[in-house]
Formats: sequence, C-alpha cells, structure tokens
Amino acid sequence: MKIRLEDIPENGLDLKLPNSSLGHFNPDILSERDDEISFGPELVGMLHMARDQDAILLSGNVKAVARLKCSRCLKEYLTDVETELDLVLKVTGSSLDEVAELEDNEIPISGPEIDLGQILSQELILELPMKPLCDTHCPGLCPGCGQLKGSEQCKCGAQDEIDPRWADLLKIKDKIS
Ligand SMILES: [Zn+2]
Ligand SMILES: [Zn+2]
Repeated sequence: MKIRLEDIPENGLDLKLPNSSLGHFNPDILSERDDEISFGPELVGMLHMARDQDAILLSGNVKAVARLKCSRCLKEYLTDVETELDLVLKVTGSSLDEVAELEDNEIPISGPEIDLGQILSQELILELPMKPLCDTHCPGLCPGCGQLKGSEQCKCGAQDEIDPRWADLLKIKDKIS
C-alpha cells in the first residue's frame, strides 16, 4: 500500500480505504510484536494528505481487524481496532540526528514513495493492549497440565489455587468430616 509523493497534489488528497489504486494492504507487519499480531485483510477508513513544505500532513481515521494472541491462554482471537491519525510525515535525510529530533507525531520518510501500509499498521499497533486478553475472565492455562484452567481437559483440580478467603472454611470442613 504505497503512494508516490508526486501523486499528492498541491491542494491535498482525500483517500478512502480500501483503495485499489494504492495496491493491497500487506498484512505482514514489521514490528517487534509482529509474531503475535496481524491485521487483515483490509484497512477501512478515510485519510487526508496535504503538503506542507518538506512534510506531508496525514490525518483521518483507520479501522482494522487485528488477530492477537491471548497473553493468558495463548489462544488467537480477533478484535476491532481503530485509530485517529494526526501525523506529520517529514522528509528527512538519513542522518540519525534528524530522526532523533522528530516529535511524537512526526514520522520520517525518505521518498519518493510513502509506505502507507507500514505507517498505518504501526499506528494501529499503538492502540492494541500490551497484554492482550481473549476475555477479561480468561482463566489462563493450568500450570499442571497446560490445558485451559477449569476446562474439561484439565483434571488437576484447583487444589493449589484456592482463594485464601476459602482456605479457612476448608480447614473447618476437614475437621468436621
Ligand atoms: Zn485467553
Ligand atoms: Zn490441569
């Protein structure tokens, strides 16, 4: 999903996604978390691109379906993710100093092509939870057998995981029986 700088007119450009003229969104996202995350198959949204001296202003919003891996039970699940964009794509040289001086919403580009797929997916990744959960009540995996805790496959019982508030009651129960 790429756009050439020269294809952005002086008076700006509105882009509706998905957009066949940009080519396909490539869900192979390059990030340090990409082994756990993928998006796809399409990004949906409205973008506006405007020229501003040595920069391109990119605004709008974009939505996608993300495939995440639950941090407790390791199951993959799908979730909607959406982000508002207010970015400055700055044409920079290759010097690290220039890149280091960029503000939070400034992204370095070197032209003549902008990889929109990469920029948008990086922005979407920022909206995703650091510890993804398939469900807020996900019990996680049993340390004994590796199956989902409390599931039929897990026969370990929860003996070692008793809520401390119940522990005293169970002691009494043991005495009685
Ligand atoms: Zn889970
Ligand atoms: Zn178990």
